[in-house]
Amino acid sequence: MSQLRDAWIEIDHDALAANVATLRARIAPGVGLCGVVKANAYGHGAVACARTILEAGATMLAVITVDEAMELRVAGITPPILLLHEPAPQRISEILEHGITPTVFTRPTLAALDAVASRPVRAHLKIDTGLNRLGVPFRELEAFIEGPLASARNISIIGAFTHFAFADELANPVIDQQLARFGDALETLKRAGIEPELRHAANSAATLSRPDAHFDMVRPGVALYGLSPGPKVPNTDALRPVLSLKARVAQVKRVQPGDGVSYAHRWVAQRETTVATLPLGYADGWARALTNNARVLIDGVAHDAIGTVTMDSFAVDCGDMDVTVGEEAVLIGTQGDATLTADELAERLGTINYEVVTRLAARLPRERRS
Ligand SMILES: *Cc1c(COP(=O)(O)O)cnc(C)c1O
Repeated sequence: MSQLRDAWIEIDHDALAANVATLRARIAPGVGLCGVVKANAYGHGAVACARTILEAGATMLAVITVDEAMELRVAGITPPILLLHEPAPQRISEILEHGITPTVFTRPTLAALDAVASRPVRAHLKIDTGLNRLGVPFRELEAFIEGPLASARNISIIGAFTHFAFADELANPVIDQQLARFGDALETLKRAGIEPELRHAANSAATLSRPDAHFDMVRPGVALYGLSPGPKVPNTDALRPVLSLKARVAQVKRVQPGDGVSYAHRWVAQRETTVATLPLGYADGWARALTNNARVLIDGVAHDAIGTVTMDSFAVDCGDMDVTVGEEAVLIGTQGDATLTADELAERLGTINYEVVTRLAARLPRERRS
């Protein structure tokens, strides 16, 4: 139970380590595992999760921003950290100083990196094979190699990667097309004398289901945290959810028929009932769209969340159950025999489990359950 706040997140580090082991069991010996801990480890808490993921055998970590990488370095985490996006030119000396591995895919970043580097910088090249988001477009790779890359004398391309357009549907023919284009890109690099030792492509879904996409390293994110990349992805049964969201009941009151609860009285009692107020709201990442549309476990039983979710609180209809102030409520996770999942919330919100956990706010303390 939290000592710090009346609403908190619990992180099961045993489950996290077990998920790394489950993913490692799917890759060949010698294939690396890069643990993606971007966005505060998908809301799970970057530093503590990064440590567990590394202890469980990850060979590298990946983040998006320089700030995310620096948070890990400042915490004393020394293994390789890959930036999946290009750094701002103003941050280049900082990443070189802290041994953070940059990704490159545009001429200005390559030139800035080359200018700042006093010795060869080991970088990864991001190749866009069909997501059409970030990376050197595969059709322009040859020109990129002959132009910007050839003139960047201080850059050593030790990694080459691509990212799939599908995270949940790995049988999609687009994946095969992207793999073929990535293979061609690696051939093009080779003809130019560039043979990166770390070729990588696989997100969680491909780690679980496409060994032909594993290359030298896999790059899972969501599956580390025990969440399925999508309903159609196979081999997710052994994954164990890592995160629980909990709160202590802040107040209990009896309401009468006709009484409205919370802003705009979007819920009105039809009968006499007990209402418990929980001290977290949309500022904590409990979406306002969950107004009259969620369940909460108290005493091992699922109750309806009622009324408008406000910035800092919302209510639960407990019927005639005995509820006491300070009692533990579970919003994501297990209590007794009942479990509420991030997937259920995602379904209610019309989104994916990734977003549900990632939007949980920094003001919720992350605590270690094991
Ligand atoms: C986020 C991300 C991943 C991890 O994706 P999951 O679907 O969470 O496994 C891998 N690679 C890149 C480039 C990413 O941005």
